[in-house]
Amino acid sequence: MKKLALHWQIILGMVIGVGVGILMTQFDGGKEIVQDWIKPFGKIFINSLKLIAVPLILASLIKGVSDLKDISKLSKMGGRTIGLYLLTTIVAVSIGLLLVNIIKPGNSITEETRLELVQNYSGDALKYKEEANKQKDSGPLQALVDIVPDNIFGAATENKNMLQVIFFAIFFGIGLILIPEKKSKPVKKFFDGFNEVILKMIDLIMLAAPYGVFALLAALVVESPSIDLFKALVWYAFTVIFGLFLMIVFYNSIVWMVTKKNPSTFLKGISPAQLLAFSTSSSAATLPVTMERVTEHLGVDEEVSSFVLPIGATINMDGTSLYQAVAAVFIAQAFGMDLSLGVQLGIIVTATLASIGSAAVPGAGMVMLVIVLGQAGIPEAGLALIFAIDRPLDMCRTTVNVTGDASVSMLVAKSIGKLHKPKVKDWDDYYPKK
Ligand code: ASP
Repeated sequence: MKKLALHWQIILGMVIGVGVGILMTQFDGGKEIVQDWIKPFGKIFINSLKLIAVPLILASLIKGVSDLKDISKLSKMGGRTIGLYLLTTIVAVSIGLLLVNIIKPGNSITEETRLELVQNYSGDALKYKEEANKQKDSGPLQALVDIVPDNIFGAATENKNMLQVIFFAIFFGIGLILIPEKKSKPVKKFFDGFNEVILKMIDLIMLAAPYGVFALLAALVVESPSIDLFKALVWYAFTVIFGLFLMIVFYNSIVWMVTKKNPSTFLKGISPAQLLAFSTSSSAATLPVTMERVTEHLGVDEEVSSFVLPIGATINMDGTSLYQAVAAVFIAQAFGMDLSLGVQLGIIVTATLASIGSAAVPGAGMVMLVIVLGQAGIPEAGLALIFAIDRPLDMCRTTVNVTGDASVSMLVAKSIGKLHKPKVKDWDDYYPKK
């Protein structure tokens, strides 16, 4: 019998996970059974993905940069990458603002729902505010200082500091380009082999993906807040999700126009990464799979993917920026505030920066939203309004974040002649070969 394609296996895992989650909430003690006996497997799956992220960035980026052979190529690729990342983020925020102004989801929030939401979630909102304030208190150049680690092992142990690992790897790669070939050759060979091993480990982890997402979603369902509160937020959720959908259409169109790869090829290639992003709500945890898919299944040269994708996972969050713009204006509408054009243009800038500053972990976009709200003079207490539905939206925006990174990697690869025929024609080929 033909094996079910990987993305179908993952989808099946998700559906069964949701089903089991719903079933288990129906009787006493069901929630605890899921938390004690199913959730840990989801955690193991996410941990194993995160475990791979740092060594993967180190090995592939050092190899990628040193393969470039000269530094001007690196700056050319760097310029295009950052330029495209900024452009896609600004498109995303603008789509978000446009939709939220047309649909006006905040106007449907009644006084009663508002009070209920604030009462239910102000405690949670406060935690987010405190975290955001920690980040806000640092000086204007702190973000830059944070990129340069004072200790590589320190940087590598904190999964939040991916930019520091990226910085070290690029710096190391540049050093490698600049020393004589006789000396650099064995080092490059080592990282080359190391990289292969890591890629194989990703293949092995992906074998467990359907079971991992099953456990993650079952746990999510039993722990999610009551559906009643969701209903009040349905227009808000619709606005965010519709915007995110338009972003997917946007990526597919530009990838199609520039690389001539049609949407179905692109989506089939990237879908396992999208499904994982959806299940884990973390671009960082998904990164190993995004890299593997883009390189092996979509033909982006490793030189490009190893550079563009880790940076993208950390700074390019189009879904997050779109969500932040919608959420900010939604909260203002719910509080009966009228935002001037000037304030809304300000939101474009702050949401762009806030999404760059958001960590690639679940819920990070909401922490940084506090900064967008503060800048626009919108009450931060409004966070409590959107709390109930944040996780499902986080799942959707993370999917867009990852798709955005993958699209930009294809555009950059095409622009410098590094988009090849994919190595793996059959996109389901995860099963270890002899
Ligand atoms: N969870 C998102 C990500 O990892 C960030 C966010 O909360 O928006 O990409």
